[in-house]
Amino acid sequence: MGGSRGKIRPGECGHVAPVIIREVEHGYVAKCLTSGTDRPAKESSEEALKALQELARGR
Ligand SMILES: [Zn+2]
Repeated sequence: MGGSRGKIRPGECGHVAPVIIREVEHGYVAKCLTSGTDRPAKESSEEALKALQELARGR
């Protein structure tokens, strides 16, 4: 898959919305539809969302 995805880089995106939470084998994965950023699976959907949004804060 691939190709470069648009104008918003992960560091410039707050990953707030739109975000989808997907249930996977190992838990839940949150993915930001704006920047295409996602995270490894977490135990809960809340954790997954938090992990994604921490990316935006941690710079
Ligand atoms: Zn984002």
